[in-house]
This record gives sequence, C-alpha cells and structure tokens, in this order.
Amino acid sequence: MSSCLFCRILAGEIPATKVYEDLEMVAFNDLNPQAPMHVLIVPRLHIATLNDLGRTHDALVGAMVRRAAALAAGRGFAEGGFRTVFNCNAAAGQSVFHIHLHVLGGRTMTWPPG
Ligand code: AMP
Ligand code: ZN
Repeated sequence: MSSCLFCRILAGEIPATKVYEDLEMVAFNDLNPQAPMHVLIVPRLHIATLNDLGRTHDALVGAMVRRAAALAAGRGFAEGGFRTVFNCNAAAGQSVFHIHLHVLGGRTMTWPPG
C-alpha cells in the first residue's frame, strides 16, 4: 500500500521515532501527542479498519494489546493507569486507514472521551 502513511513509515520512507518493533508490529511516537506518552502500535500487515479484522488476526491484535501494556509498564504507568484506543471510521475520528492502537499515559484521562 504505497499510498498508506503508516505503510510508508513501516517501509522507512517517512521518519518516525520508533520505540519498539518485532516481526509483527512497530510502535512509534505519535506526531501530535495527546499525553506525555502517546505511542501508536501499528501492525506490519495493512488492515484498513477494525471492520476488516478476521479470525486470523486474533493473535496479532492480542499481541498488540499486550505490547501496549508492556510499553506502558516500561514507562511506569502500569499501576497508575493508561489508556488504549482504536478509532474506527469517521464517527470515531479515524484519520489513518491502517489500524493502530493508541497508547496514552502520563496524565489523568477523562471519561467519556470526546
Ligand atoms: P487516528 O485519528 O486514530 O487515525 O490516529 C492517527 C494518528 O496518527 C494521529 O494521532 C496523528 O497525530 C498520527 N500521525 C499522523 N501522521 C503521523 C506521522 N507522520 N508520524 C506519527 N504519527 C502520525
Ligand atoms: Zn498501510
């Protein structure tokens, strides 16, 4: 997907500050952080939205969620808390159509989110 921003970041065509990577996923700092920690966990596989997930992706998504907890723990937010968000489509404000898990920490979050 040469037109996809996150595929281009994963291919190294656009710079990003990576904080983690393995065979399945890459995590990098959000360009417009909404908290002291704001990391995006992005699978190497291009999947446009949560609506496109199938059973074959279950392990991948599980690994992404566990990685979110590990990255938050590494920043010292396990006990105090952190937030994970998947936005899906327009009403949720999804702007990049390659699924990504936001991991936010380092401040108190409000509920409900905007
Ligand atoms: P969403 O609105 O859920 O699709 O989230 C997309 C996120 O990607 C936003 O939080 C943006 O700030 C972030 N973003 C956009 N461009 C870049 C980039 N080049 N590097 C890192 N994060 C980006
Ligand atoms: Zn992509």
